[in-house]
Amino acid sequence: MSFFLNVILPLPLEKRFTYEISREEASFIQPGMRVAVPFGKSKIYTGIVAEVHNTPPQLYDAKPIEQILDNAPVVTPGQLKFWNWLAKYYMCSEGEVLRAALPGGFLLESETLVQLGNTKEVNEDELGDDEYLLYEALQRQSSLKIKEIIQLLDKKTVLPVINKMVTRGIVVVNQEIYEQYKPKLIKYVKLNKEHASEAAMHVLLDDLGRAPKQREVILTLFQLQAGSKKPIKLKNLVKASGSSAAVVKTLIDKKVLIDFKLQEDRVSFEINKSTTVLELNEWQQKALSEIKKHFNEKEVCLLHGITSSGKTEVYIRLIEAAIANGKQVLYLLPEIALTAQLVARLQAFFGEKVLVYHSKYSVNERMEIYEHVLKASEKAQVILGARSSLFLPFNDLGLIVVDEEHETTFKQFDPAPRYNARDAAVVLANMHGANLILGSATPSIESYYNASHDKYRLVNLDRRYGEVLLPEIEIVDIKEKYRKKRMTGHFSDRLLEEIKLALAEEEQVILFQNRRGYSPILECTTCGHSPQCPNCDVSLTYHSNSNQLRCHYCGYHIAMQKKCMACDSPELTTKGFGTEQIETELKALLPEARIGRMDQDTTRGKHGHQKIITSFEQEEIDILVGTQMLSKGLDFRKVRLVGIMNADTLLNFPDFRAHERSFQLMLQVAGRAGRTKDRGKVLIQTYNPHHQIVKQVSVNDYKGMYKEQLEDRYQYQYPPYYKLIRFTLKSRDYSKTNEAADWLARSLQNVFREHVLGPEFPPVARIRNEYYKNILLKIPPKQSLGKTKAYIEKIMGSFKAIGAWRSVRVIINVDPY
Ligand code: ADP
Ligand code: ZN
Ligand code: ZN
Repeated sequence: MSFFLNVILPLPLEKRFTYEISREEASFIQPGMRVAVPFGKSKIYTGIVAEVHNTPPQLYDAKPIEQILDNAPVVTPGQLKFWNWLAKYYMCSEGEVLRAALPGGFLLESETLVQLGNTKEVNEDELGDDEYLLYEALQRQSSLKIKEIIQLLDKKTVLPVINKMVTRGIVVVNQEIYEQYKPKLIKYVKLNKEHASEAAMHVLLDDLGRAPKQREVILTLFQLQAGSKKPIKLKNLVKASGSSAAVVKTLIDKKVLIDFKLQEDRVSFEINKSTTVLELNEWQQKALSEIKKHFNEKEVCLLHGITSSGKTEVYIRLIEAAIANGKQVLYLLPEIALTAQLVARLQAFFGEKVLVYHSKYSVNERMEIYEHVLKASEKAQVILGARSSLFLPFNDLGLIVVDEEHETTFKQFDPAPRYNARDAAVVLANMHGANLILGSATPSIESYYNASHDKYRLVNLDRRYGEVLLPEIEIVDIKEKYRKKRMTGHFSDRLLEEIKLALAEEEQVILFQNRRGYSPILECTTCGHSPQCPNCDVSLTYHSNSNQLRCHYCGYHIAMQKKCMACDSPELTTKGFGTEQIETELKALLPEARIGRMDQDTTRGKHGHQKIITSFEQEEIDILVGTQMLSKGLDFRKVRLVGIMNADTLLNFPDFRAHERSFQLMLQVAGRAGRTKDRGKVLIQTYNPHHQIVKQVSVNDYKGMYKEQLEDRYQYQYPPYYKLIRFTLKSRDYSKTNEAADWLARSLQNVFREHVLGPEFPPVARIRNEYYKNILLKIPPKQSLGKTKAYIEKIMGSFKAIGAWRSVRVIINVDPY
């Protein structure tokens, strides 16, 4: 009898691939182990074993495998099942899911680049012969491909050697660039121990009799110390004593005071640890017991809790209960809301049991976490992560929390699998028999619909913690303001007044503008020309910091132009405005204020977000200008005012979800105001003060918004009533893209009739010199999804058989919005 393996390769193949193995190999190999296998002409890939069986493939001769890479499975049966569901539901290959699911270091292949890791000291005596050879070669040559290592070591089976070295951090793969996290250090001061006794203190104060300023500083320090056990920040001491940094420095030079530095998040962690157990208030308590009741009946819960109602504390209790039962917990968040703040809060509660999983982590860090979860180690009982943490090898998942469930960043657009982590979490929880809670202050229409139609259970939390009032919302009609000449740049007189008021009281301000850059478009007043990207169908955006015109799609850039590129006229103006311009205007209007900016341009790199968030928390910034990044679950303590610079760009977005999204965004940004004692204030500048959504935001009318949007969705046949599948065709050839799109649309129309929309060019129809065209398929509630997809696969089969369109790619996106 012969033995075979079905292997999932990390490639967009429609099927698993079959290899032949020996009897001994068959008795050793289990599904979920990695094997190195040949594929194509001379390539080697790492694949995952899906099944061991005795049926030879019919269409080709099975090749032998190269090597078994594991002693035990690294992928669980549960993961294989989940991958299979994802591939079927989102219409992609299991191989594409595999690529998304495993950290890159697990998937060595012939083209993989291997380099020395720069984090570890290597003890050469501990290296095996092959390891030493490779280690030495990498000191002479910065990187080697795996196929070159095969030559170097003169053997085929090099993957186990490399795997071991990757695990030990001696080498890294795929040009992983290590960015060392430099935690922010804050200066603190304390009294020199010599002066700590009461007697010594009196002597000291007497000595300082002739230096009243220094004496004042010492007295203030005592005062501050009496009030709290926290270490005293140098900055705060200067401020509280009404003294200067120079005076404090003199005291440090005299060794009366000692200065030291601490890492900010460690400090808050240490402090919170002793005071962690927060009593839930009456409303939180009630929500918690409702959720627990629903969990007992195995129901999914939607927690609709207004901003700052204390949802996190409720989640913490649920997590506590799950881990008390020995279960694993997954806490899903949008990437950007994964802040040190939240991590510290959870660590304060659960200590070392919390691990964070982040796509910006290095491959090694991700592999480490993966292995902790696989081994179900103590350290990995609670995983806090962005959407990709759904792929971790959980074996005993008891609870999934999806916080900010309305967030669009739970959906992955590119590459496949184009999954929505919230929806996939429902399936994953179901597979594990785990509980699931979705939470938001502004639930998605889908989830609220499910909760109103008995699919989920709805739990409400509609008081802010500590009875803080929701911010007062004022709408500013900027058409009127322009007419009356009460605008300075993009600021109405009302907004400026409120900003000044907040600053005068040493409180902070957030300004929201949903566009980065300076002002998106440069326009010639003589001929109307705007400079375009040569590779994409978009106008270039002006960035004043670099004095460049840039394309936001492909990165193309040129120097800012002084004359029109078409007619040479020097009369250029700008249209629209972005965060950068707001920042520049503000600096001119309020030269004293400290202004920060948070958008894609200022938050690159692993810790980009965290740096800005920390400076704002540390009150090193008075006014933070930013894009929608600001709306995501951040808990700032001293924000009194939120200004929305222009609501109209949100409302006019050409998308059936534009209104729902505008409502969510505005309400979420507004929710950053006044989270502690005093009532916050929100100003919304708009040309359409009577727009329904603006009104609904201003009175926090979620249900009104929901009802109205739902009517539209019903009438125009959109989700949650109809399901959507979008086909995007793209190629470098304009007419081929068109012809292929017409053919595909007609084929779909043969079956699905009027439920096929398009083909249509998207708003940006050319990106990086590729032409795009979309077709949208609407699936009525009663139509079988399985059958629909089977038809689509049949049509795609014929499509791929047409040679002329080989260069046209078709991207299928299920639930595209
Ligand atoms: P949400 O996520 O609902 O917007 P948070 O969970 O961030 O709200 O809570 C808002 C603020 O209220 C936080 O600063 C939190 O520390 C505080 N808070 C919430 N619940 C409690 C509680 N039971 N005791 C003390 N403080 C609480
Ligand atoms: Zn011109
Ligand atoms: Zn471009």
